[in-house]
Amino acid sequence: MIRFEDVSKRYPDGTVAVDDLSFEVAEGELVTLVGPSGCGKTTTMKMVNRLVEPSAGRVLVGGEDVASVDPVRLRRRIGYVIQQVGLFPHRTVLENTATVPRLLGRQRAKARRRAAELLELVGLDPSVHGDRYPDQLSGGQRQRVGVARALAADPPVLLMDEPFGAVDPVVRERLQDEFLRLQRTLRTTVLFVTHDIEEAIRLGDRMAVYGQGRIEQFDVPARILGAP
Ligand code: ADP
Ligand code: ADP
Repeated sequence: MIRFEDVSKRYPDGTVAVDDLSFEVAEGELVTLVGPSGCGKTTTMKMVNRLVEPSAGRVLVGGEDVASVDPVRLRRRIGYVIQQVGLFPHRTVLENTATVPRLLGRQRAKARRRAAELLELVGLDPSVHGDRYPDQLSGGQRQRVGVARALAADPPVLLMDEPFGAVDPVVRERLQDEFLRLQRTLRTTVLFVTHDIEEAIRLGDRMAVYGQGRIEQFDVPARILGAP
């Protein structure tokens, strides 16, 4: 579903963030990208939805070179959740979640019904939380809305960049478990960036362990842990 072919990224200031990366992620697979800060994880992820353009090589999604896809269309097809999700402050939780289905042309009532389903899917009660505004939610709840909104376009691919990094450890574990269940149900292909090795092990079907600009190991967690 996602394929990197000899991809490098050199930023204009000369920083080589990613150096000759090749890997594949199968449909329905959840791959965690793990490693210390600054090793190129976010750059890798942003080349999938063209927030960053590679300096060399190709990135394919569903067999299609993303360089040939209109970025706006691409981003509607690829969900994206970051550490501090930006919700529209003057729209309710339900409206925030219904925004994408509306943009995709669904009728208001249908979009709201879909939004309510998604909120339930991420563990929020639409009748309780749906009419709240983002500043009336806890950090964990805001991240849940971010996940619901990212899923609203039924994306085949979901990019998650430290989505639970800013919530407290107890809530984080709950969000991880729930997200895993959700991903198993929907079979969405996921790239999940984290610097937390335990999170990478817990969530990843496979994990890509980064060194500076390179993937040093790419395997199922058990084999990486068992490796000498
Ligand atoms: P990670 O996600 O692993 O923390 P990043 O992909 O964000 O790593 O960054 C990789 C390297 O690229 C770092 O050295 C970072 O400083 C650099 N970098 C990231 N974004 C830019 C940018 N827009 N311009 C220049 N250098 C950047
Ligand atoms: P979570 O475990 O999801 O992070 P918290 O423990 O932070 O939730 O919050 C507990 C409860 O307090 C939640 O039901 C949430 O709705 C409510 N809450 C948190 N912040 C606010 C706020 N600013 N206004 C209203 N309710 C809030």
